Amino acid sequence: MDDSGRFVARHVATLPKSGIRDFFAIVSKMKDAVSLGIGEPDFVTPYHIREAAMTALEKGRTSYTDNRGTQQLRDEISRYVAKNYGPEYNPENEILVTIGVSEALDILLRAVLNPGDKVLYHEPCYVSYAPSVALCHAEAVPVNTISADQFALDPAALRAAWKPGCKVLVLNFPTNPTGGTANRAKLLEIAKFAIEKDLLVASDEIYSELTFEGDHVSIASLPGMRERTVFLHGFSKAYAMTGFRIGYACGPAAVIDGMLKVHQYGIMCASIISQEAAVEALRHGHDSMMHMREKYRERRDFIVRRFNELGLSCHSPRGAFYAFPDITSTSLDSMSFAQKLLEDQKVAMVPGTAFGRAGAGFCRASFSTSYERIHEACERIGRFLDKVRHG
Ligand code: PLP
Repeated sequence: MDDSGRFVARHVATLPKSGIRDFFAIVSKMKDAVSLGIGEPDFVTPYHIREAAMTALEKGRTSYTDNRGTQQLRDEISRYVAKNYGPEYNPENEILVTIGVSEALDILLRAVLNPGDKVLYHEPCYVSYAPSVALCHAEAVPVNTISADQFALDPAALRAAWKPGCKVLVLNFPTNPTGGTANRAKLLEIAKFAIEKDLLVASDEIYSELTFEGDHVSIASLPGMRERTVFLHGFSKAYAMTGFRIGYACGPAAVIDGMLKVHQYGIMCASIISQEAAVEALRHGHDSMMHMREKYRERRDFIVRRFNELGLSCHSPRGAFYAFPDITSTSLDSMSFAQKLLEDQKVAMVPGTAFGRAGAGFCRASFSTSYERIHEACERIGRFLDKVRHG
């Protein structure tokens, strides 16, 4: 009998498992399933970026690097961020290369939170935010966003959710799973609030290049925000590099230094091979990224149109690669909808509640899969809806 569970810390034992993983486990064993569940690009990393990784190996670049990341990559990140987002970061002490945004967010929270501190974040959101906060013995404070606002963060709701002890605000624009973004006017209001309440902002901008409507604005570029924002970014989504596990954080030196301490003891450094590939992505990856973005846009337009035709009201996501249809017209809750759809038609969508309670009544459909598969999934969803509605 395995009773080793008694060794697991209370705050880990009580963490729920990711709802997304459960679904993947079922889908991966199913024949002929069509998955709209996956949260990663269906594209293979562009060849010139893979070639850079191969060249690194061929040349025997197989060592550790500086804990902060290679000088070359930090220089490129500094240039890229200044050019595309505004703020200038010193590669010496304001940039840290990490194992994806996942690690960047984790070490940021671990570097700044004391037990009992509170962290504001908007829901529905990426599955790891609340658990990452809990792992720091801190308290996650969700701010609900609603479908009537296309899930945009309402500064008034943020203000209402605030309570004493809030130290960090996590933002994610464009948002997984809703595709929401924030324009400059909204960000200015959020920034004003962050300054007033002396919050450190963790801005997860991993989908920023995949913005379909309007220009992406980083909160770090707004007046008074550079010194209280950690800009988190990576290569997984825009360059289709999930398996390279590479990302970065840019922010004020003292916070980056705190993160570096956590990083150097826990991780040491990101893989040198991935770092060399990332340099190539930043130098020459723009065209392939734009090509992929246009493909996502076509698929977005198609899937949103089809959901609405099928009677599942769906707003058009302004960024990222997820549609978030309202499934309440079926009288099923999110989990039952996803389970029954999978059983009946072998189509996988993720229940909105996997992204927090505010996701109730919705399901997430990723359009980072081929047009043909999306088309097939919509046909099957149509058949499923017929059965649900007409018995
Ligand atoms: N942040 C958001 C909003 C995401 O959706 C994801 C992955 O799905 C991540 C971070 C993790 O990205 P990475 O692969 O850089 O760790």
